Amino acid sequence: MDSAARRVAIIGGGISGLAAAFRLGELSKANQIPIEAALFESGTRLGGALDTIRRDGFVIELGADSFLAEKPAAAKLAERLGIADQLIGTQEKFRKTFVVRGGRLVEIPEGFSLLAPTWFGPLLRSPLFSAAGKLRIMIEPLVPRRRALEDESLAAFVRRRLGRQTLVRVAQPLAGGIYTADPEMLSVGATMPRFVEMERRYGSVIRGLRAAARARDADARGTSGARWSLFLGFKDGIRTMVDALTGRLEGSINYGAEVVALTGAAGLHDATESVRRWRLGFRDGSSFDADAVVYAAPAFAAALILQSINPELAAMLSAIAYASAATVNLAFRAADFPQAPAAFGFVVPVAERRRIIAGSFSSLKFPGRAPAGMVLARVFLGGALQSEMMALNDAEMIAAAREEFASLIGVTAEPALTCVRRWPASMPQYAVGHLARVAEIERMAEAVPGLALAGAYLRGVGIPDCIASGERAAETIFSQLAPRP
Ligand SMILES: Cc1cc2nc3c(=O)[nH]c(=O)nc-3n(C[C@H](O)[C@H](O)[C@H](O)COP(=O)(O)OP(=O)(O)OC[C@H]3O[C@@H](n4cnc5c(N)ncnc54)[C@H](O)[C@@H]3O)c2cc1C
Repeated sequence: MDSAARRVAIIGGGISGLAAAFRLGELSKANQIPIEAALFESGTRLGGALDTIRRDGFVIELGADSFLAEKPAAAKLAERLGIADQLIGTQEKFRKTFVVRGGRLVEIPEGFSLLAPTWFGPLLRSPLFSAAGKLRIMIEPLVPRRRALEDESLAAFVRRRLGRQTLVRVAQPLAGGIYTADPEMLSVGATMPRFVEMERRYGSVIRGLRAAARARDADARGTSGARWSLFLGFKDGIRTMVDALTGRLEGSINYGAEVVALTGAAGLHDATESVRRWRLGFRDGSSFDADAVVYAAPAFAAALILQSINPELAAMLSAIAYASAATVNLAFRAADFPQAPAAFGFVVPVAERRRIIAGSFSSLKFPGRAPAGMVLARVFLGGALQSEMMALNDAEMIAAAREEFASLIGVTAEPALTCVRRWPASMPQYAVGHLARVAEIERMAEAVPGLALAGAYLRGVGIPDCIASGERAAETIFSQLAPRP
């Protein structure tokens, strides 16, 4: 161990913390400044919401399974880790999503982008909306632009611009489902800024979507070959990224290390008498001294840990609520389906009063996920609007998933494989005003030298956002530790 090395503690071994640790290593090497990174994870495995298992020829994603290709941080990290060749796109021939309407699966009209349609043709032919609902959507370009600049809920935004049917039948299950959140609480500014910008710029979401489609077509004309898919995954599952990061970390990795206290103290000394700024306290009573800390665990844990350092900052962090969810993976024989599925999956509006929030066909979305003749499916349960589902035991969750599959798709066969994974308090809820709250949190955290925050509770829950936040935190800390020229 290099006694001159600056010591950085990283709290949380999810993708945000792993990305921070890896970036610190890169900066340390590139600048020839020794940094000793120590990662502390309260659990027994790294990856947080990313986990894959392989069983009986299936590649089973237990949490996150893919990321948005248009946000570059994840693919860039894959390149630096030397695993870009293992990235795979989705199977475009199955790129269709259905929504449950009146107990049946109805295809979401082509060109419908989360909240609004791009084109009216597919919308007019769709049985998803009533004639009045369609008319309400089609007059969206005539709805006056909102002048107020303050944030509003996703529900208010959609009702105002596109009407109640769009909210209840599509936006709630699609957009609310991504965040496992109640759209009445969810901040549109923090979750769907693209649509807010379209209203500001074009006075209409539909006009904005058309402009974006035209720009994409113009781009595509300038390139050749197949268009890259919207979502990317890894051939052997999302754990590929976690394993590659873990394999490349040079500092120590500490499991079962739940940080319960952080004290900032001038004059903390280690054996070499160099001054350390921070002391981390663990659940088992042990401690660790560091020059700097990257905090990459959930906001509610930060609120406890930072209480003695800045109670106001701790209070703001504790105001970020979390929802819980669970996944149930189910494998069936393709022959068990009355009609072969040919879609990525389906979402379930809360108004339909069912027991799942979404279902997907993982082996249709990505190649190589199931042996020949088998279909790997996955169901999501829980979220902010169905939190009571989290009280079910595994067998009851599997039974609920099977009942819904039987009723919605007609699959009654015994699954060849089932696998339940719970994700308690895993999804930060971006409430109205989230961006202002985060700006304030960041301002207060910046005032504490040697502390940087990262994670899904800040500026995006997606994998690329989390990677970018971890990398930013590493860069902030590195710039503080590096000797000034
Ligand atoms: C079921 C599910 C499916 C998802 N699907 C997708 C998807 O397909 N695509 C996508 O882009 N995003 C998806 N997401 C979102 C994305 O995966 C997460 O937002 C992201 O992985 C969060 O990473 P993180 O490192 O910030 O937090 P986490 O993954 O929550 O990691 C935090 C880590 O900190 C540890 N920890 C907690 N407290 C302490 C403490 N006191 N001391 C030390 N360690 C502590 C935890 O054990 C955990 O390992 C999904 C999320 C879930 C839950």
